[in-house]
Amino acid sequence: MIRVKRGDKVQVRSGKYRGKQGEVMKVLPPRSKRLREIGEARSMRKQVMRSEWRVIVDGVNVAKRNTKPRGQTMQGGIIDKDMPIPMSAVSIVCPACGPVRPAVLFDEQGRKLRVCNKCTTDLG
Ligand SMILES: [Zn+2]
Repeated sequence: MIRVKRGDKVQVRSGKYRGKQGEVMKVLPPRSKRLREIGEARSMRKQVMRSEWRVIVDGVNVAKRNTKPRGQTMQGGIIDKDMPIPMSAVSIVCPACGPVRPAVLFDEQGRKLRVCNKCTTDLG
C-alpha cells in the first residue's frame, strides 16, 4: 500500500466529502484498542493496521464543536475541528494529472520515491 504523508495534496474518493481536495495535516495510526481486540494473530493484525490508518485533511470532515468557557484564557462557543477520515478514502493528487495512483520507484540510494504513474512527476 502506498502511504499518504503529511503535506500531501489529496482528493477524497468516497463518502460525504467525495471530490474535495486538501492538504494532509496529520496522519494518525490505528487506535491501540482495536489492536488489542484482535489478539495475537499476526496476519490479522497487519490487515487491521493497514485499514485503520486515518488522515486529517485540511477543510474536510469539519465538525462543529460546542465548547464551554474554561478559565480566563479559553472562550466558549462553537469551534471547527477537523476530524480524521480513513486513509483508504483519499487519493494522492498529481499537480499535472489530478488524482492518481502513484508508482513507487527506488533511487540510487535505495530510497523509496513516489511518482505519478502518468507523468512521472516526483510526488515526494
Ligand atoms: Zn502526473
